[in-house]
Amino acid sequence: MDGSIGVGLIGTGYMGKCHALAWNGVKAVFGDCARPRLVQLAEVTQDLAQRKADEFGFQRGTGDWRELVADPDVEVVSITTPNAFHAEMAIAALEAGKHVWCEKPMAVALVDAERMAAAAKASGKVAVLGYNYIQSPLMRQIEALLQEGAIGTVNHIRLEMDEDFMADPEALFYWKSEASSGYGAPDDFGVHPLSLLQVLFGPVTKVFANLSRPYADRPTVEGTRRAVETFDIASVLFELGEGISGVMALNRSAWGRKGRVALQIFGSAGTIVFDQERFNELQIYSAADRQSLQGFRTILAGPQHPPYDRFIPAPGHGLGFNDLKIIECHELLRRIGGEDARVIDFQTGLNIERAVHAMAQSHREQRWVVI
Ligand code: NAD
Repeated sequence: MDGSIGVGLIGTGYMGKCHALAWNGVKAVFGDCARPRLVQLAEVTQDLAQRKADEFGFQRGTGDWRELVADPDVEVVSITTPNAFHAEMAIAALEAGKHVWCEKPMAVALVDAERMAAAAKASGKVAVLGYNYIQSPLMRQIEALLQEGAIGTVNHIRLEMDEDFMADPEALFYWKSEASSGYGAPDDFGVHPLSLLQVLFGPVTKVFANLSRPYADRPTVEGTRRAVETFDIASVLFELGEGISGVMALNRSAWGRKGRVALQIFGSAGTIVFDQERFNELQIYSAADRQSLQGFRTILAGPQHPPYDRFIPAPGHGLGFNDLKIIECHELLRRIGGEDARVIDFQTGLNIERAVHAMAQSHREQRWVVI
């Protein structure tokens, strides 16, 4: 795909900046894609939008996201607003004939996620989700190792996602503490490990979950206290097809954990270990190794693990989180160009949403839920 493509960005917070960096960097890194024209971004006020447009290199800023969606120069819209806005914005963009790159989770209610998938299908446009962790070069390597049977037949998976941004009991109540953002750990965190399962093994088929909140209330900016409405912790048993069992532990209040998305895959002939906190390395144990040499081998990411080579020719120098967003952006452009691409689109994303809602149902009813 060559030529150029007009980009709109809604939201300029944590993820908004990541998308802006990706749109700014993708052509320089990959070369073979359309050149993004950074047309317009939207924020909650005109002033903020203008300031961010200037910082991020966009031509214009608007305080009204509907103006961005109606802009004929905008061909693809990045949606990086809080979860409660995703459905309305994505559907409006698709109905206006734009491609969409929407942050996870798809939506708060399953019915809204289903409406998003239906809108994507009806529009014929490309609509993908912000599942960055599937993009790391070593995650692709893990997929290749599994396919070639490097650890035999997989029989069990253990997944953890932990951070500590909610660990302080006195951390402020904010949108992620509100039920309007979803359940908490299952949709804020669980969707990421579920995205890894989706690309490596396919959809989860049943779950048994227990959700908990470590702190009943939090201080507000107004100086009062407010009851926390979401769950920061989830403990989940799950099953995949073909008899693979799994355990998933999610915790947004895990002091000391900064960006852990840890994966252990156990097979009949070995084990693979990966952790996003050290995502430039993976470990593999092979039962086929000579007994005196048996132990985990550590493999550092390098140009032999595409698309690492597109960033730097030197092995072991390491990619960063924002590079995953650049790879994701490139995959989106490939899909828009009609090529095969490593993306989770709205249709496939529904599998992840269904697993999230099944976790909540399982917690409410204290039983296994088949998806
Ligand atoms: P944030 O609070 O940092 O940023 C959200 C931005 O959206 C803010 O700048 C806010 O002013 C703006 N906004 C809110 N309402 C708006 C509206 N009506 N019009 C225009 N702008 C509006 O939040 P965040 O941490 O960037 O999270 C945003 C989304 O990204 C969430 O859905 C979250 O789940 C997702 N996220 C994904 C990852 C990932 O790894 N893929 C990581 C963090 C967050």
